[in-house]
Amino acid sequence: MSDIAARLSGIKERIGYAAKDVGRDPSDVTLVAVTKTHDADTIARALQAGHRIFGENRVQEAAAKWPALRSSWPGIELHLIGPLQTNKVRDAIALFDVIETVDRPKLAQALAAEMARSARRAACYIQVNTGEEPQKAGVLPSDADEFIAHCRDELKLPIAGLMCIPPLDEEPSLHFALLGEIARRNGLEILSMGMSGDYEIAIRQGATHVRIGTAIFGARPAAPPA
Ligand SMILES: *Cc1c(COP(=O)(O)O)cnc(C)c1O
Repeated sequence: MSDIAARLSGIKERIGYAAKDVGRDPSDVTLVAVTKTHDADTIARALQAGHRIFGENRVQEAAAKWPALRSSWPGIELHLIGPLQTNKVRDAIALFDVIETVDRPKLAQALAAEMARSARRAACYIQVNTGEEPQKAGVLPSDADEFIAHCRDELKLPIAGLMCIPPLDEEPSLHFALLGEIARRNGLEILSMGMSGDYEIAIRQGATHVRIGTAIFGARPAAPPA
C-alpha cells in the first residue's frame, strides 16, 4: 500500500469515528481530496487506492492535469475550491462537476449564462465569508440569504450547498455553526467545511464535505506566482 493509500484509509476511518460520535452516518460525509500543486503521478496513487472525488483551486492548473486523468480513470468528480474569475467560467464549467466558490452576482450570472450555452450543469455551492475577512472571498453572512435567493430564483442556478474557510486564527467551530445555520434556514443540505486541521470538528457540526489536502498528500511546495 502506498503512503497515500494508507493516509486515505486512516482519514476515512477518522471521518467515520467523528460522524458516529454525533450519531451521523459516516457515508453522509464526503472526502474531497485536495490535489492542488500535486502532479498527476501523485494523484494517480489516490486514484489507484480507489478515491474518486478531488478538489483543485486553480482552473488553469486543473486544466493541465485532469483531462488526461479523467480519460484513464472512470467516475472522477472534480470540485473547484478556489476563486473563479468570470473570464475562466467557460473552462471551469467544462472541467468541474462542482463549483464550491460562487460568491458574487457577476460570477453567478456568468455561470448561469455558460450553463445555458453549453448545456452542462455543475452543482454550485455558495462561499460564505463567515469571518468577514476583507481579503477573503465569499458573500458576507448578512448578505447570504438574499444572494442565495437571487442565484436560485432568478438565475436558476443549481445551488446545492454552502462552503466556508474559517479565519486561521479563530476557533473554527463558531464559523461552522454559522454556516450550518445559514444552510438550515435556506433549506440547503450540503455543507463543505473542514480541512486537514479541523475536519473532525467540522463533521461533528454537520459537514457533509470535508476538503483535505496536506493530511493525505503531505506538505505542498510554495504556490507558484499567480
Ligand atoms: C488547500 C485547500 C484545502 C485543503 O487544505 P489542507 O489544509 O491542505 O487540508 C481546503 N480548502 C480550500 C479552499 C483550499 O484552498
